[in-house]
Amino acid sequence: MILEGAGGADLRVRLGNGIEVVQGEDRILLDPARTEAGVPSLVTHAHSDHVPRDVGRPIGPVYATPATAAVMRVRYRTPPGVPSEVGFGETLRFGDLRVTPLPAGHVPGSAMFLIEGEARILYTGDVNPRGGLSVEPPDSIPRSDVVIVESTYGSPSLALPDQDEVRLEVVEWAASVARSGAVPVIRGYSLGKAQELIKTFNSLSNMEVVVSGEALAVTRALDGFVDLDYTEGPGGGRHVVVSNRFPGWRPGSRVERAVATGWVVVRRPRSAAAFPLSSHADYWGLLEVVERADPEVALTVAGRTRELAESIEKVLGIGSRPLPSRWFSPI
Ligand SMILES: [Zn+2]
Repeated sequence: MILEGAGGADLRVRLGNGIEVVQGEDRILLDPARTEAGVPSLVTHAHSDHVPRDVGRPIGPVYATPATAAVMRVRYRTPPGVPSEVGFGETLRFGDLRVTPLPAGHVPGSAMFLIEGEARILYTGDVNPRGGLSVEPPDSIPRSDVVIVESTYGSPSLALPDQDEVRLEVVEWAASVARSGAVPVIRGYSLGKAQELIKTFNSLSNMEVVVSGEALAVTRALDGFVDLDYTEGPGGGRHVVVSNRFPGWRPGSRVERAVATGWVVVRRPRSAAAFPLSSHADYWGLLEVVERADPEVALTVAGRTRELAESIEKVLGIGSRPLPSRWFSPI
């Protein structure tokens, strides 16, 4: 192994099998693509691009918060006892590295990881400083020497509208469709968006919420973690359907479709209404996360990494670059 970077500090990071952190003999993997024997894998949340592909038959230890673990058992059929559960604020020790999950505000159970060794590194995973109606927002973003920040919406062109306004628009659309005698059907990701949509209708309307598809399986797995009022249908009277896909429908019933995703700010669908409801921080939210952590250096991953790094330097005056694939000493 050839290590690069300024001398002195022994703590190194790289983008390899997920995000790898090494300090002396101690090594951990954050959101890796696969598990490794004898190396802890820490999973921020249960979206598939953050979960080891072999988690159904892992060869190394895997850790996640209880809500993330519950979803992983349903979605990825993990063996009994996998992943090991670690609650928000509990600290795991791996040799001289300590790791503490903190709420990330992205989807139920989603965590940032604070890694403490020779320096403090905050890995945000997917993050949303506002949280949502169904997601605990980060109660604090700890000051850190290094931040590794996601960049999904890391471009100034990817600012999202006020999410409370979007929630109201979703409910108004569904109510008007229902008044016309049709059934409103809203498609969103099964983890995160579906629960946010259910909670939105629970909070802002008295419509019955029918959940179907994988969204139903994931929502059921989160019973006990998120307080949601929903049914499995078929739905009587005025109701709204939330699903991860547009379901086939009974002959004779009229449906109107909508999609809920932040990506409609980039491309609007032709055949459905569209609402820019996002579980991610937008461009300004990502800058806020970095500013609150107040690091010496910010390393960007996943998405618009170059654009976000440029903005962090220009807007915040904090050194920033995409996390390299070669070992890098950030301090
Ligand atoms: Zn995610």
